[in-house]
Amino acid sequence: MKIVCIGRNYVAHARELGNEVPADPVIFIKPETALLKTGHPFSIPPFSNEVHYECELVLRVSKKAQAITKEAAAGYIDALTAGLDFTARDLQQQLKEKGLPWEKAKGFDGSAVVGNWMPADQFKNKKDIHFCLYKNKAIVQQASTSQLIFDFDTLLAHISQYFTLEPGDLVFTGTPAGVGPVEPGDVLEGFVEDDSAFELSIQ
Ligand code: ZN
Repeated sequence: MKIVCIGRNYVAHARELGNEVPADPVIFIKPETALLKTGHPFSIPPFSNEVHYECELVLRVSKKAQAITKEAAAGYIDALTAGLDFTARDLQQQLKEKGLPWEKAKGFDGSAVVGNWMPADQFKNKKDIHFCLYKNKAIVQQASTSQLIFDFDTLLAHISQYFTLEPGDLVFTGTPAGVGPVEPGDVLEGFVEDDSAFELSIQ
């Protein structure tokens, strides 16, 4: 099982980190060991002084997808939820400046949080799904899939040209603007539409 993540998929977020808006999806992969066990708190790793939350919609792959078309892509997803792509921003910045891969800043243990699954067919219009993140009861991120640079179908078609997707693989579809640091004692709660997807404490 693998976790495929998309970077810079909302214009306002690309700009808040000083990045260009990409012409093609920016892809990176987290290992399975990045998954935070359900119900466990997130522990800030000792190698970072600046871990950021990134709330994202997460797709679950239902069948093998190899070089699929955009038109067929919707048939390969059976569920979605909100999740968190925790990022050691200080480490990522150092690696970026040296032109090195980001893996240590993005794929560390516990860096992938996945909420409760919601059946994909419950969402009639996948091009306008709202989601948001609260930190300590204050809203910090909110967006709609109408604001995605690359929509779900485009992402799946693009990813599957390079990496065969298999049942149970996850796709993190990118974070909107509003990312920021976490500290011990914080509580993060993610919603898809009006449904709570996860509640997570930071230690
Ligand atoms: Zn992300």
